[in-house]
Amino acid sequence: MEVRNAFKLEFPAIPENVEFARVTVACFASQLGGFTLEELDDIRLVTSEAVSNAIIHGYGEHTGTIFINGSICDGALEVIVEDRGKGIEDVEKARQPAYTTSPDRLGMGLTIIEALVDELIILSEPGNGTRLIMRKRPTHQAHEGSSTKRCGEGL
Ligand code: ATP
Ligand code: MG
Repeated sequence: MEVRNAFKLEFPAIPENVEFARVTVACFASQLGGFTLEELDDIRLVTSEAVSNAIIHGYGEHTGTIFINGSICDGALEVIVEDRGKGIEDVEKARQPAYTTSPDRLGMGLTIIEALVDELIILSEPGNGTRLIMRKRPTHQAHEGSSTKRCGEGL
């Protein structure tokens, strides 16, 4: 099936935009119809964790831009959150529960995302920023086979 709907967002990496991003992504996701209220809450949470990471870790004290691409494809939601910040040195380590490079944080954001989406792909390189690709399918939707093709590139 073709991409049925898609959007692109671009906004400054400031804390005020965490709420903007999570509400926007959840609103887009609700078009799919199949997500429960609880699943829409999960989508809000994973979006805010990804955007917060981009602000706190990706850009830190620097200014920068966050990019979000969303799409509905094959009955599933795909959300890509991207920053052009400092990147992650060791992605495998970063995905471990309680791993953090900020002593005042819990190191649980990526673990929470992993638990709440069906698929999490992290592409990152030191100096070149980070891209999180998150895919989630409504639990109660009839399964018509799963596609692995990239869906977020239809814009
Ligand atoms: P918490 O999310 O619980 O507040 P945290 O942000 O440190 O704490 P995670 O979200 O799991 O925990 O991220 C783990 C680590 O991965 C971070 O401490 C940071 O070093 C690195 N990281 C995550 N996202 C990014 C990013 N966008 N850019 C650079 N580093 C990142
Ligand atoms: Mg985090």
